[in-house]
Amino acid sequence: MTRIELYDTTLRDGAQGVGINFSVSDKLRITELLDQLGVSVIEGGWPGANPTDSEYFASMRGVQLENASLAAFGSTRRAGVSPQDDLQLRALLDSGAPIVTLVGKTWARQVADVLRTSSEENLHMIEDSVAWLIDHGRRVVFDAEHFFDGAIEDTDYALRCVERAFDAGAERLTLCDTNGGTLPDLIETTVRDVVSRFGDVVGIHCHNDTGCAVANSLAAVRAGAVQVQGCINGYGERTGNANLCTLIPNLQLKMGFAVASDDQLHMLTTIARDVAEIANIAPPHSAPYIGSAAFTHKGGQHVDAMAKVAYAYQHVDPAVVGNRRMTVVSEQSGRATVVTKAADFGIDLGGDHPLARRVAEEVKHLEFRGYSFEGAEASFELLVHRARGHEAPFKLVDYIALVEQREGRSLVCEATVKVLVDDDVVHTAAEGNGPVNAMDAALRKALTPRFPEIGLTQLFDYKVRVLDGRDGTAAGVRVLVESGDHHRRWNTVGCSTNIIEASWIALADAFEYAIVSAQHQSAREVAAAG
Ligand SMILES: [Zn+2]
Repeated sequence: MTRIELYDTTLRDGAQGVGINFSVSDKLRITELLDQLGVSVIEGGWPGANPTDSEYFASMRGVQLENASLAAFGSTRRAGVSPQDDLQLRALLDSGAPIVTLVGKTWARQVADVLRTSSEENLHMIEDSVAWLIDHGRRVVFDAEHFFDGAIEDTDYALRCVERAFDAGAERLTLCDTNGGTLPDLIETTVRDVVSRFGDVVGIHCHNDTGCAVANSLAAVRAGAVQVQGCINGYGERTGNANLCTLIPNLQLKMGFAVASDDQLHMLTTIARDVAEIANIAPPHSAPYIGSAAFTHKGGQHVDAMAKVAYAYQHVDPAVVGNRRMTVVSEQSGRATVVTKAADFGIDLGGDHPLARRVAEEVKHLEFRGYSFEGAEASFELLVHRARGHEAPFKLVDYIALVEQREGRSLVCEATVKVLVDDDVVHTAAEGNGPVNAMDAALRKALTPRFPEIGLTQLFDYKVRVLDGRDGTAAGVRVLVESGDHHRRWNTVGCSTNIIEASWIALADAFEYAIVSAQHQSAREVAAAG
């Protein structure tokens, strides 16, 4: 079977997406993730176009990738300049990348209107640039810009452009739906025609302006394309590029192409979410395969059926792509859903129906106020723990958080907290680099003497999401805190219209969870010893 080459352009086309701004270290981390995922080519950027990309290629010198080859992206030489005198081509060579992806115009009208040169000179530009890079020992991918639009208007010219690149030694002719306006049927017939002329050398590069980037890429593969370009999470210009996180499982699981090993496919969800974190963009819930909602069941009837047979409402096993089945508690679902959700978190509610009903009521009430227990399993466990009638190990009485910035002095943050532990009021104060950090320190100070296990924990991550204001004035915030010790991590959540209060609730849950799980642990040890 033909091997399909995955070509990732997250670091170049993806970086051109609105709201994305990768630093050099972001790009290096993403490179590592892409290499683990097993893509064949990582397009790192456009050397010389901006300092970040130049520094990235300098940092990549000597880096040995396990699976992927690095590509530098740039355009064909300028009109009327020889390749050796073209600074941009020289920067591509100097980048040290073994592959150079050259974009060239193939739409005759744009050659005249945008490049403002003759169609004959554009053919020379393609030919000379490819040949010069090959002479200097590079592998060349030719990105045929606007190929589909160009081929409709002037098929002969578009084909002559790719032919020049092919004859000059380009190893891939990648047809680009640059404006993203083409539909799958036309993509398929056009690619089939190009494959019949040049053989197994055709690639596809689609944008998602009609919502068809993935479908278009699959149509191209069906027609014989051997290279598929795309971006993690579908990042990219305007509406984005073809989403590799959808393409990879579709190619592998639905079309039977071997594009990744089982282990690599299993990493897909984690890698997609890690890249989203690096891009500082919330991972899309509803993304196919890797989204948090992709295998989440909400309607009571669906939840009920899923508990009986897994194929009832899911098309593949989520574990194959490293995702997992989740159940959402909502007004549409009740007790059975809570039992399933508790089981998702490893809590067995057994046959305790009144308990499950109490938890369901409490969850509904909290979700209405903006809570979400997605990614906050420790807060959910505490909720069940409290519903079972357990007393909290401490009670928050009150707190003051101060932020002071005076002329000539640096910012000072101080928190004072009052906590009730075994009928004693403990009163402490601490400073921090921000109000949340100060509250964390003060609470830690108050609790550690009585609960030494707190001393082993630390705060790893702190995230704030702004929720849509329900009444149009006060937008709430949801704070997620990740804490942990040497062995494990746990996540807690707090909601409020006030960010300090939301943080306070999430922090208090984090400490309570540390204490409760330590108590459980010692109870288990006592039981085992006895
Ligand atoms: Zn593009």
